[in-house]
Amino acid sequence: MNVKGKVILLMLVVSTAVVMLLEYINRNPEVDNNSSQRGWWFLSWFKDGIHGYQEGETEERTKGELPLSDWFDPTKRPEVVTVTRWEAPVIWEDTYNTAVLESYYAKRRITVGLTVFATGRYIDHYLEEFITSANKYFMAGHKVIFYILVDDMSRIPLIELGPRRSFKVFEIKPEKRWQDISMMRMNTIAEHIVAHIQYEVDFLFCMDVDQVFQDNFGVETLGQLVAQLQAWWYKAHPKEFTYERRKQSAAYIPYGRGDFYYHAAIFGGTPSQVLNLTQTCFKGILQDKKNNIEAKWHDESHLNKYFLLNKPTKILSPEYCWDYHIGLSSDIKNVKLSWQNKAYDLVRNND
Ligand code: UDP
Ligand code: MN
Repeated sequence: MNVKGKVILLMLVVSTAVVMLLEYINRNPEVDNNSSQRGWWFLSWFKDGIHGYQEGETEERTKGELPLSDWFDPTKRPEVVTVTRWEAPVIWEDTYNTAVLESYYAKRRITVGLTVFATGRYIDHYLEEFITSANKYFMAGHKVIFYILVDDMSRIPLIELGPRRSFKVFEIKPEKRWQDISMMRMNTIAEHIVAHIQYEVDFLFCMDVDQVFQDNFGVETLGQLVAQLQAWWYKAHPKEFTYERRKQSAAYIPYGRGDFYYHAAIFGGTPSQVLNLTQTCFKGILQDKKNNIEAKWHDESHLNKYFLLNKPTKILSPEYCWDYHIGLSSDIKNVKLSWQNKAYDLVRNND
């Protein structure tokens, strides 16, 4: 064999070895330490259409949050509480810089999940308006997955979703009492986070269905653990809050304790934070059932206890869940979501 022949043979041997090595790495995820991303990286590069999800970017996705001072200015709303004792931001209209936030989150290519439950008459009364308005205003421009949990799949309204929006519907067992429907959500959300949501989204919100989006509910609301101020109570003194006050309940909060009265109609965070929240609240609910006690405001009482012990890293002003029955208030500059009429006699199945 002449020199040229030897070189060609050597090149063939080397390229075969490289291909075998790559195949080995591909089959043994522990070798490249990235088990969630099987398949040839260059194939997924083409499949995605855009270059993304590669190592550098994966790191960026999991790196810390944007520094607060880059996008949040509490001095813009001096008349309301914009920072908590533990230095968490309270997001009011005018306190956040949308352009800075949008450019940051666009690079991270985030996916945001939203769970909503509708059983019995709540399907016909509220679901369509909730999803239609969320389609338009919830995380506009970002990838969103709606998790819709109903007791009757056949009554789901037909809704055409916009680009980057998708939904998954799950059937749940109907509870007899509305109190149990509301409380059981904690357990169902936890189960779904464990089974699939944790792999599908970067952030998750959980909301009541009896409300309608009115304006952009955007990336300024994203955080590790997010709580919503209850519109009727945001100016009240903690001793007035309707926390559970009986010692026998797991949701017990003594007078003199507590920071805010949080609304169970909206909470969120990263999947792992929401998992801990829902599992802990459900544990409290089960303990109360065993002790024959039911907290005053059901899951909301347990949520308030949870946020007392685990401080939210971000709080949403009542502009994010306003009740127009309160009337007009100069504090409320931009309503992002509003309560629906509470037609309890029409929608609830017991008192
Ligand atoms: N829910 C439901 N069917 C019911 C009762 C409650 O689907 O029969 C769900 C629904 O998502 C609702 C949430 O549980 O928004 C909480 O109940 P509700 O809104 O009646 O409580 P409130 O806002 O009055 O505290
Ligand atoms: Mn509600």
